[in-house]
Amino acid sequence: MKIELSDQLFQTALPVLSTIESHGYEAYFVGGCVRDTLLNLPIHDIDIASNATPDEIQSIFKHTFDVGKEHGTIVVLYQEVPYEVTTFRTEGTYSDFRRPDEVHFVRNLEEDTLRRDFTINALAFDRHGQLYDYHQGLKDLNARVIRAVGQANERFNEDALRMLRAIRFASQLGFKIESETFLALQQLAPLIENVSIERIRIEVSKFFQGAYFHLNGQLLPLTGLCEYIEPFAGLPVEEGVEGLKMAVKPMIENGIARDESFVWTLFLYHAGIKSETRIKNLLQKWTHSKQFIKDVQASMSLLKAIDRQSLEPWTVYQYPDDIIQRVYEFLIVHQHALSEQLMTIYHALPIKQRNELQLDGRRIMTALSMKKGGPLVGKILSDVEQFVVTKQLVNQERILIEYVIKHYGQESK
Ligand code: ATP
Ligand code: MG
Repeated sequence: MKIELSDQLFQTALPVLSTIESHGYEAYFVGGCVRDTLLNLPIHDIDIASNATPDEIQSIFKHTFDVGKEHGTIVVLYQEVPYEVTTFRTEGTYSDFRRPDEVHFVRNLEEDTLRRDFTINALAFDRHGQLYDYHQGLKDLNARVIRAVGQANERFNEDALRMLRAIRFASQLGFKIESETFLALQQLAPLIENVSIERIRIEVSKFFQGAYFHLNGQLLPLTGLCEYIEPFAGLPVEEGVEGLKMAVKPMIENGIARDESFVWTLFLYHAGIKSETRIKNLLQKWTHSKQFIKDVQASMSLLKAIDRQSLEPWTVYQYPDDIIQRVYEFLIVHQHALSEQLMTIYHALPIKQRNELQLDGRRIMTALSMKKGGPLVGKILSDVEQFVVTKQLVNQERILIEYVIKHYGQESK
């Protein structure tokens, strides 16, 4: 089968393949870009496989980065776009369920596909769009099934993360997991304990964000995988997942983006983890970043304010624009009674952030003839900010200065 590689991402990557070929090697598009093209889905990145060794790739291209040479991966920077080029390889034995003890470079594509996780991920295109399918991946794509390449239990024994990847693809693509693969998954679920939390987190996030999560989300508790993932311990994962399914369903149906921090917020909300401290402790265990944790805390706090029906200008003002926008879209698709109120209050805010205030520390100090700043300046600023947001003061420099002199003139002496 031959496909036209019309996507712009393929077009810009074609010279990378032809350059490798012009040096006498083979090169193919592999992985997600092939799978998603055949499914008529948009592609988001390009993976390239080649029989050239990492050293050979580095000698062909001017700009390269070594991101894992011993595993065969070199990043080639071509016309300012980075491409991962991975040498065809097989993987040796696995003694720790997650990393091959050694990798061997091999010279043909078919051998390379044997180490790939699922048949739908073991497909390749050459630069003419010719499809290479050594494991009946196309048949599985058409039947919408996720099937391990070779023996599922061997493959999960080699790298336990593949089990989580299976349910992640089920959530992203809406596919069924083929029965032998599913059986192996249920039997070997405990092996996920051997996988690092960073790798697990990436897959869990993609799983939560999947376009078919509302249909396949229960796979996480159903396969038993969550029982062996340490930071899920003690959490009512089933409730969290069920709640998240209901929450994202209308978002998916209305094409509303579900960003990573928001799906985690909704999961935690339905799992009953709502306090700032508990969110922080838990998400730290998941190795989420500080900014990510802040975003989840803010979204959670806004959801709780909505539950309490306590939407006041000062409350709404506390949240960054993007969080208001995302919660608003969420409320709209759920036909929530407070959706319009949230936007009306937000649009009516006299200022959206502190730097829009017609007053700052320097002007306060001049007005009060203070030589040094200090806690009082901060206190005045936040008092004035609150009065402006709640429309007790108009945001005009002259008015604010007058107010400051009148109320704090004595205190500053
Ligand atoms: P995505 O759309 O998320 O990028 P992908 O299938 O491209 O999906 P990647 O993680 O980018 O996933 O991996 C690229 C390819 O490498 C996969 O399609 C698969 O062939 C192979 N692969 C990745 N991780 C594994 C793994 N743990 N075991 C076996 N093969 C893997
Ligand atoms: Mg990919």
